[in-house]
Amino acid sequence: MPNVKNWQIGREMAYPYDARFPEKQFAFVFNINRCIACQSCTMACKSTWTFSKGQEHMWWANVETKPYGGYPQSWDVKILKMLRDADPEGQYWREKLSDGRYAPYGEFNGKTIFEANDATLRTESSRVLGYLPTDEEWTSPNIYEDNPVGPKGVRNELHTTGTELPVHDTWFFYLARICNHCSYPACLAACPRQAIYKRPEDGIVLIDQEQCRGYRKCVEACPYKKTMYRGNTRVSEKCIACYPRVEGSDPETGGQPMETRCMAACIGQIRMQGLVSIDDDGTWAEDRQHPLYYLVHVAQVALPLYPQLGTQPNGYYIPPRWVPRTYLEQMFGPGVERAIERYSHPDRELLAVLQLFRRSNRIIFRYEIEEGPLVYEGSYRGKDVRIYNDTVIAFGARGEELFRTQIEEPLHVREPIHANSI
Ligand code: SF4
Ligand code: SF4
Repeated sequence: MPNVKNWQIGREMAYPYDARFPEKQFAFVFNINRCIACQSCTMACKSTWTFSKGQEHMWWANVETKPYGGYPQSWDVKILKMLRDADPEGQYWREKLSDGRYAPYGEFNGKTIFEANDATLRTESSRVLGYLPTDEEWTSPNIYEDNPVGPKGVRNELHTTGTELPVHDTWFFYLARICNHCSYPACLAACPRQAIYKRPEDGIVLIDQEQCRGYRKCVEACPYKKTMYRGNTRVSEKCIACYPRVEGSDPETGGQPMETRCMAACIGQIRMQGLVSIDDDGTWAEDRQHPLYYLVHVAQVALPLYPQLGTQPNGYYIPPRWVPRTYLEQMFGPGVERAIERYSHPDRELLAVLQLFRRSNRIIFRYEIEEGPLVYEGSYRGKDVRIYNDTVIAFGARGEELFRTQIEEPLHVREPIHANSI
């Protein structure tokens, strides 16, 4: 297998094809701290793409309660266990001096799903370590919703005393998921028909419905389980990143890049999606004023989901502040402590960039900040806090201003005559 460079794990790794990178890459940041599991995203996707016969079990976008929930059930526990069985001692990260953009999280010492496949000496014609979920595992997308980890790790029991940050005793969190439109897609690597392709213009990963013969190798290989088999058409389907919106060909977009349906519907305002520029070696080209570049590479508050699997996913998460760090580190890698610390004590620029989430459905390509007056001075958890009413301005694909918003939210006082009306 050729060797390719995977910056998220800080080293080269084996992959069935030579590396090829798109000019721009579809990417997104989800702020877990804000998700309320309203499932508006889930239903926005369902009512757009998977409402037809044979798609009843399909949820291209889903929100599961961690640690017990999962769609399909136990998808992450199962693949992590398979990796550990293939490499019992080796699945850990090695801290090393980061060389900036290339290895921001250190180096993953263990085996990815592409490397572990060889280690297990599997005899079937599979290029990627994976498994096919059972029908039953697909049937309860929201299983164990709101079930916390309680005393002694018992599911759905509560501690009887209160608790405080930094870590809660009784905890759960919501993990919103779509296809990560990975840089090294396992689905694409596994397909014997070469029916899966990654678009050179935006890195969106699609299944050619004419080429697919429904062998389900992609379903088996995707570690995030984001390709799904449709029984009545006998082909596989997956999230298409609402590409007519992203490319501006949907009539609603007016010809300009627009965020996906699941992003636009987000009530909790946790989601920001964008298109980032990619260098020849697959790393993100420096683009200091791009909000996603800033969140992932400058502030480093947003981390990839299970980077150790090796697909170089393009979905990034601001981890939840209240969850035990060991759990988060196995999910997001070693950058967790730094990300939570920065998110908990945001500097002036981070606070401004966080205001950009969901102020518009247009894709933001650049931001600027205009400084405003000091409006608050105090302390939080032992650190000084100063808040300025800065204005952050978002720009679109053509450099046009999309919107501007401020740190302080405007206060609207309803006239007494309307006090009880809605
Ligand atoms: S998340 Fe899965 S389906 Fe999506 S690109 Fe990555 S490997 Fe393929
Ligand atoms: S719409 Fe937003 S807040 Fe609601 S469940 Fe989805 S990601 Fe969470």
